Amino acid sequence: MSLFPTYNRFPLTIVSGEGTNVTDDKGNTYLDFVSGIAVCNLGHRPPEVQSALEKQLGELWHVSNLYQLPKQEQAANLLTEATNLDYVFFCNSGAEANEAAIKLARKHTQRETIVTFKQSFHGRTFATMSATGQEKIQQGFGALLPTFEYLPFNDEKAVNELEGDDIAAIMVEVVQGEGGVVPGTKAFLEAVQQKCEELGALLIIDEVQTGIGRTGAPFAHQLYNLDPDIVTSAKGLGSGFPVGAMLGKEKLVDAFSAGSHGTTFGGNPLASTAVCATLETIFDESFLEDVQSKGEWLRSQLEEDLLPLSLVKEVRGKGLMIGIQLEEEAIPLVHKLRENGLLAVVAGPKVLRLLPPLNVTKDEMTKAVSIMKQVLQEHSSLQNV
Ligand SMILES: *Cc1c(COP(=O)(O)O)cnc(C)c1O
Repeated sequence: MSLFPTYNRFPLTIVSGEGTNVTDDKGNTYLDFVSGIAVCNLGHRPPEVQSALEKQLGELWHVSNLYQLPKQEQAANLLTEATNLDYVFFCNSGAEANEAAIKLARKHTQRETIVTFKQSFHGRTFATMSATGQEKIQQGFGALLPTFEYLPFNDEKAVNELEGDDIAAIMVEVVQGEGGVVPGTKAFLEAVQQKCEELGALLIIDEVQTGIGRTGAPFAHQLYNLDPDIVTSAKGLGSGFPVGAMLGKEKLVDAFSAGSHGTTFGGNPLASTAVCATLETIFDESFLEDVQSKGEWLRSQLEEDLLPLSLVKEVRGKGLMIGIQLEEEAIPLVHKLRENGLLAVVAGPKVLRLLPPLNVTKDEMTKAVSIMKQVLQEHSSLQNV
């Protein structure tokens, strides 16, 4: 095999998918509660996105940002209409969206320090790896970019005590995803917002995982009435078509003038078509209300069935982004769940993470809960003998 072994891959080869269901090369089917890590928010091959892409495939795949791109403008409008932000820059991943945010914040403020949080995850490029508050991500690459400072997450006291005249921005996830599905508290997030205002720093919210309806609002910061200057998006933005975006306020427009930043593929006609078809479905009030109520229902079912097990410490999350804090390593359970027909993913060593498609049905959730209950119960009783 000639792939760099950068991923720990499970022994599973998925060959097809439809909605919440995927099939492997042996004909086994699974409920997919990973969704490509919060990417396939409308399930696999959602018909409305597929047909829009098929039409676009027959017209035009790629032209450069040298030319007018009406589809890209339309995608940008869908994002700005759903938020308090005014301009959009399209790129190809979450890390690139955060790179753009870091560059924009530094250029606009003419300051260099970006404050982020421990256990955060912002990507794997040099700047976003440096922004990420996790040593295991940074190890072995030598000196990081020196302009990042890390505060403890959910610690409003540490935020209140922050000072300095070189702070360009504070960058935060509303719910830490890779760091363990840890929702920010209202008091903490409000302290971050207030500190930004006090320091004249920008508030950057990394919504790469929490955005695009995942938490029951277009973007999770809207659940807390936060008013960020910059929001980054990717993962669910194109339903599986690789695309990222950075959204910013009007006041930032001069710092990203012609020639200041760019990328070859960013927002090409195929990507923009995937974005438009995805957002037209998800950014709908009743669709999002449904996500909230399904998320509450799923969390309450999981609490009812799993919390009695000594293995399970907490069920937490927002919308359909759910973390189950265990007393032990989560990976063995991910294997057992898969063997029983349910795909889940970890978030840190001891957290099981569920990210079902946002259009998951009640039946599918019921089935997933019963698999979880059976597997975790079996695991607990095995340990107690
Ligand atoms: C996944 C993720 C990223 C990185 O996105 P990539 O597309 O993998 O570069 C950044 N921030 C958060 C919060 C993420 O969950």
